[in-house]
Amino acid sequence: MIEKVTSSKQAIELEDKYGAHNYHPLGVVIAKAKGPYMWDVEGKKYYDFLSAYSAVNQGHCHPKIVQAMIDQAQTLTLTSRAFYNDSLGPYEKYITELFGYDKVLPMNSGAEADETALKLCRKWAYLKKGLPDNQAKIIVCDGNFHGRTITIISMSTDPDAYSGFGPYTPGFIKVPYNDIPALQKALEDPNVAGFLVEPIQGEAGVYVPEDGYIKKAYDLCKAKNVLFIADEVQTGIARTGKMLACDHEGVRPDILILGKALSGGTMPVSAVLADDDIMLCIKPGEHGSTFGGNPVACKVAIAALEVVKEEKLMEKSEALGKIFRDEMRNVKSEMIELVRGKGLLNAIVIRPKNGKEAWDVCLKMKELGVLAKPTHQHIIRFAPPLVITEEELRKAIALIKEAILSFE
Ligand code: PLP
Repeated sequence: MIEKVTSSKQAIELEDKYGAHNYHPLGVVIAKAKGPYMWDVEGKKYYDFLSAYSAVNQGHCHPKIVQAMIDQAQTLTLTSRAFYNDSLGPYEKYITELFGYDKVLPMNSGAEADETALKLCRKWAYLKKGLPDNQAKIIVCDGNFHGRTITIISMSTDPDAYSGFGPYTPGFIKVPYNDIPALQKALEDPNVAGFLVEPIQGEAGVYVPEDGYIKKAYDLCKAKNVLFIADEVQTGIARTGKMLACDHEGVRPDILILGKALSGGTMPVSAVLADDDIMLCIKPGEHGSTFGGNPVACKVAIAALEVVKEEKLMEKSEALGKIFRDEMRNVKSEMIELVRGKGLLNAIVIRPKNGKEAWDVCLKMKELGVLAKPTHQHIIRFAPPLVITEEELRKAIALIKEAILSFE
């Protein structure tokens, strides 16, 4: 018998009993969402300030995206790539023209897209750069987050992510983030094929590097014939006030990785973009995914990207982000150690007070009707859907302030 959920308590108990314990969610059970709002099982309304880790940039259940999904789901959902389908080609043309690349390789999750980029980079290194077999190295940054596969956690410096899951995939060099001399030194190794970086480190706590870091890093890579690979799974699709966070510094990555908001939060859709010289290094049979490039994903991604343009989400993100940071920097609370971010990807570093930490602030915000979650122990990320209006944002800011000031 399928149980019908009638209370939050019941839903939590079911997950606790039957689901793996690989998450530690805030104690709220969401039953419905629209735009920037979510409602729990009991009908309480909240502002969503997480946006499913920036997957719901276009707002929950965006009618245009949902309609594209329904229309295609009623027509053709999956062929696998064993056959052509009539949605993939038009999507490939649309996304490559939009981002300015020769080719796209469609995948599903962000982690899969990152894995794809790593494989592509290694293949390019052997076929084009002429590195000796199995010697290619990729530079990654301390504090990175690129997903959860064995290879990806092999790049991680977070013990929670990698401990107990060895042996690890070799071939990575770790350098401090936002440290150009360290990158320069690592690039002296002649077997380096690529540098994989998040233009802002989201999961690490919205670490924004110094202005110019991304451009300098890109230039250093170019000088050494090393591929500059940007993981824009979280920062892309207007989240930071531009279509891509790399756009802030006029950098066009050699390999661009997108995910999350590419579907507006409706289903897993990710993509890797690159020019022919790189992308055509992978030949038929060397990489793929049953669901990658499925017709529903293609239609959903086009709609999701169109919404970003039609609703001027880049401009909104830029303008509303400034309001958010200004307002939060003016709050007179010892608990606010630092406010940082770009566009509507922001974080507040919480200084614990009387034993109260970021988690307690999130619980108080939940009580008042704003949902956000700590990333690491002392940082709260604030990333509402970009469709939030200024009026809604100001109302939510008032609640966030009230929550923080309740500990004074
Ligand atoms: N890359 C970045 C920068 C991310 O923030 C994430 C997820 O948070 C991923 C990759 C992994 O994406 P997914 O969870 O869809 O595998």
